[in-house]
Amino acid sequence: MNKDRNKSIINLNDSQNVNHKDLEDFTQEQKEAILRRDGYKCVICGKGLKDGVELDIGYIEPVRLGGKAIMENGQTLCVEHSLMKKSLSQTEIGKKIIIRLYKIAKKEGAEKLIEFCEDILKIYEKYHIDSHIEWDK
Ligand SMILES: [Zn+2]
Repeated sequence: MNKDRNKSIINLNDSQNVNHKDLEDFTQEQKEAILRRDGYKCVICGKGLKDGVELDIGYIEPVRLGGKAIMENGQTLCVEHSLMKKSLSQTEIGKKIIIRLYKIAKKEGAEKLIEFCEDILKIYEKYHIDSHIEWDK
């Protein structure tokens, strides 16, 4: 049983579908330990190898925010949720950049730039993207 599981994990890491860059930082031992700890299931949807879903090891706190390649900072995600998490963090960065620009524009009274930033931030609101990041209207 365990032998089969290990085989799946090794196949997963060799798969073209997995972003090697993101897997490189955790060692093979860490990845296996994280998978074992999470019960070989995605921590978001609970699907796993049994359900025919490929698993990925993701960072809880992203590397760009100082997250380390330690077991405590790793989580098991299905490929779908792994991709979703990655793209969501991209939109978060975007929103933060626009908020920063918006504050500068308001301080300097740059009308056009204020309008531009407001339009973008309203689009974030329209699609309920990253609503946990607040901006002062
Ligand atoms: Zn999932």
